[in-house]
Amino acid sequence: MLSTPNFQYLTVRKIISQPTDSSAQDFNTNRKSEIYIKETLKNIPRCKICNGLIHRNSISIDHIQRKEDGGLANVDNGQITHPYCNTGYKN
Ligand SMILES: [Zn+2]
Repeated sequence: MLSTPNFQYLTVRKIISQPTDSSAQDFNTNRKSEIYIKETLKNIPRCKICNGLIHRNSISIDHIQRKEDGGLANVDNGQITHPYCNTGYKN
């Protein structure tokens, strides 16, 4: 297919295999990525309703005690959730 003139715009990405030698002293690119993901997953925020991971661009602040039940807008009564989870799902 790649040799067909109509598909000359296609490119084949070469996957560069890197040695997985655990005795190497320098981190290769894959190992660096693995370490970055390992470290950041420890500290990533989770939705307090469904416990799913939350992206920083998709956060909603939820009343732990609902306003209908007298919950106030103070720091101790707030929690981060997904916007969807804060739309009545828990009620
Ligand atoms: Zn959620």
